[in-house]
Amino acid sequence: MLGLMQSQQLLISSLIEFAERHHGEAEVVSRRVEGDIHRYTYKGVAQRSRQVANALDGMNLAFSDRVATLAWNGYRHLELYFGVSGTGRVLHTLNPRLHPDQIVWIANHAEDQVLCFDMSFLPIVKAVHSRCTTIKHFVALCDADKLPPDTGIPGLLSYEAWIGSHPSEYKWPEFDENSASSMCYTSGTTGNPKAALYSHRSTMIHALAGALPDALSMSARDCVLPVVPMFHVNAWGLPYSAAMTGAKLVFPGPAMDGKSIFELIESERVSFAAGVPTVWQMMLAHMQSGKLRFSTLKRTVIGGSACPPAMITAFNDDYGVEVLHAWGMTEMSPLGTVCTLKNKHLEMESAEKMKVRLKQGRGVFGVDMKIVGDEGEELPWDGKAYGDLLVKGPWVISAYFKGEGGSPLVDGWFPTGDVATIDPDGYMQITDRSKDVIKSGGEWISSIDVENVAMAHPAVAMAACIGMKHPKWDERPVIAVVKKPGSEVTREELIAFYEGKTAKWQIPDDVIFVEAIPLGGTGKMQKVKLREMLQDYKLPGV
Ligand code: ADP
Repeated sequence: MLGLMQSQQLLISSLIEFAERHHGEAEVVSRRVEGDIHRYTYKGVAQRSRQVANALDGMNLAFSDRVATLAWNGYRHLELYFGVSGTGRVLHTLNPRLHPDQIVWIANHAEDQVLCFDMSFLPIVKAVHSRCTTIKHFVALCDADKLPPDTGIPGLLSYEAWIGSHPSEYKWPEFDENSASSMCYTSGTTGNPKAALYSHRSTMIHALAGALPDALSMSARDCVLPVVPMFHVNAWGLPYSAAMTGAKLVFPGPAMDGKSIFELIESERVSFAAGVPTVWQMMLAHMQSGKLRFSTLKRTVIGGSACPPAMITAFNDDYGVEVLHAWGMTEMSPLGTVCTLKNKHLEMESAEKMKVRLKQGRGVFGVDMKIVGDEGEELPWDGKAYGDLLVKGPWVISAYFKGEGGSPLVDGWFPTGDVATIDPDGYMQITDRSKDVIKSGGEWISSIDVENVAMAHPAVAMAACIGMKHPKWDERPVIAVVKKPGSEVTREELIAFYEGKTAKWQIPDDVIFVEAIPLGGTGKMQKVKLREMLQDYKLPGV
């Protein structure tokens, strides 16, 4: 016997319809590429998304055709989020921080038909357009009078003129909720980049789960600042969860420096912000040097790479902001775990509480996890045994776009490439990415643990630990360190700083001071590049 409830497809268009009807007055504020602040409401987003939909239909694109963006976080990008997916086309958010050759490769692989880009990326588009063989339409996200002449880009349109010539009445089509809605290529640490292809259903369920109180806890009372780019796993799904809850949205545009982000948080009364550790590092440095305080920020979700303990303490103790440490990946839409406390933790001493907060957190309903050993055997949830982390659930990929790389699943589970422990309360802690783990004398050293100690030193701005070949121990850890401007620390002082904080054999053999640690397109440390930089390096005494 089947249930007797209405069967309605879960479609992204319903999010913006809901936001318009129930939260039509809630604001969407953007710092624009033009430099000024743009301000309107969900009502405006809905109207202009429908104009986008009409404009796309006018281009005679087929269902599931890819519409690419090269854009910062802003209102026009948001309109494309709803307008493109709402019509049944696939939003492909290209990462502008990639090398132009990679952008060409990815756009051709995705078979993008349209490219909408912010004016800051005009030089990139000029350089790549003739090699992007499938793109038929180029749209610059600007007013008609801002379109420079003689760009050499054939048929270049201005977004405002393009959508402005179309009505804001539109009936969103109904179709199978399993249809593709958006796509995102992973950084491709091995081989060519591969795309995760999200569906309307996966995006909607992910947005629902992401808004839950023990996940990102989003509501109509929130003012949300996604600093995490909209080209990085759909800004962790925040635009969708915000529309679903009616939360005010604030977009930083291209200004990601500490001063600009801090000013936006204060001027728009942001209550909740999301970003990778490197962004918050810049903002905290700005606040510390100017002795600044937050007046409205209550919580911040930090993920994408391990959040150093010193950052959690700074937010919590110095500024009264709760840090939600979160873990996920492109292949998981991206939400996997979020670290929120259980009742039993509330009465704990703050040092004990901190141990919990440092973990990557508990699985959000919808994500099943397990850790396995070398033979694939499942390991206990005792907080000690560590093994390869596998996940499954309705917003975890089943295959990459075009079947690249073959089936990624092992008995229905997706291997994340991360190594983790899970404690009896279900809190998962990443010890490392499988390829970053340092193997020393048959034991494993977590590069994250080694980095965290260095990051707690007041003179250290950034630290990256890598394993170096050692004739006796196989590998030994060394730490590359960027000093804070105006601060001093010697190799010996930093090594002494590890005393008592970690087992002796886990103390790095050497400290290498560097100007900068190479960061990837999404702000993560690129250890492969760091290794290349240090290829002539020899461990002391070897
Ligand atoms: P890529 O795998 O190409 O770097 P993703 O952005 O999908 O791109 O990154 C996912 C990976 O980032 C995870 O598998 C994990 O290694 C790392 N990661 C994400 N969040 C955290 C976190 N909170 N702590 C430690 N590592 C994290």
